[in-house]
Amino acid sequence: MKKDLASQLSRPAISVVIPILNERESIESLYLLLRHTLESMRGGYEIIFVDDGSTDGTFQVLQAFQENDPCLRVIQLRRNFGKTAALNAGFKRAQGEMIITMDGDLQDDPAEIPKLLAKLDEDYDLVSAWRYERKDPLSKTLPSRIFNGVVCTLTGVKLHDLNSGLKAYRREVIQHLKLYGELHRFIPILAHWQGYRIAEVRVTHHPRKYGRSKYGLKRLGGGFMDFLTVLFLTCYLRRPLHLFGTVGSLLFLFGFGIGVYHVVLWFKLGGIGFRPLLFVGILAMIVGVQITSIGLLGEMIRNLAYHPEEEYSIRRFLG
Ligand code: UDP
Ligand code: MG
Repeated sequence: MKKDLASQLSRPAISVVIPILNERESIESLYLLLRHTLESMRGGYEIIFVDDGSTDGTFQVLQAFQENDPCLRVIQLRRNFGKTAALNAGFKRAQGEMIITMDGDLQDDPAEIPKLLAKLDEDYDLVSAWRYERKDPLSKTLPSRIFNGVVCTLTGVKLHDLNSGLKAYRREVIQHLKLYGELHRFIPILAHWQGYRIAEVRVTHHPRKYGRSKYGLKRLGGGFMDFLTVLFLTCYLRRPLHLFGTVGSLLFLFGFGIGVYHVVLWFKLGGIGFRPLLFVGILAMIVGVQITSIGLLGEMIRNLAYHPEEEYSIRRFLG
């Protein structure tokens, strides 16, 4: 009892955050396995389950465990807000110096947590699990492989498995992540962009034993839009005119060149009539000016929303 009170008052070394939606059958085994792993580790721990609007009695099971375990916290969201929001709710309340996230469906193995934390100790800020031999159907693994390949090539982040639920973070990483929509899939990209050091370790993965996957093929379309957002944010958030101004100016110059060509024709031949190319040129100039203007608007927003402390990220102070 004394020990429990002490661990409640001081901050635990490890917080495990688990977003959970309708995973009633998995909870007991997951909870017991987690406790088994965490109790053998030093520094104290807390487990935070975030019930993301479950309707299958998940919350009642969690509540029953919570009544007898001061290291267990349960957050119940009013409705299903999505995995990103659930992670945010858990992060906000996590007190540990290191934060572990994992899925609540028993596909991630709690026994792998020490491996992730050991890697974090090698002076990394975020360690992502690489589900080596992922135990999911081809309809999930194939799009995921393509997603990982495209995203990693275009962003320069060298990971094999971006979207694994099992990850370990240093506290400062989660404090600086801005997660919304479905951006949880891009956490390593966003963290890498902020200058955090990222690594991955191979972990075992299990097939889903109970319940159903919450993500189907329909996430692909949305995933592409999210990727566009992330690409834009990581490349041009701080200098929107560099993107819009470049595209707009090139388009304008293209249209202007066509215009000059028609002026020459006009002098040589007299009338230039309704040549289709003339219209292409006019259109390109108008759209070019508009795209450049969007960039200028972006710069105005950037200026008004300026926060000096968001312009950089400090790794450490000396002295
Ligand atoms: N999840 C959640 N809210 C949602 C969808 C999923 O909290 O809206 C949880 C889910 O309960 C699980 C984790 O996020 O713990 C990963 O979901 P799932 O296993 O269905 O994804 P998959 O492994 O099939 O990609
Ligand atoms: Mg799963």
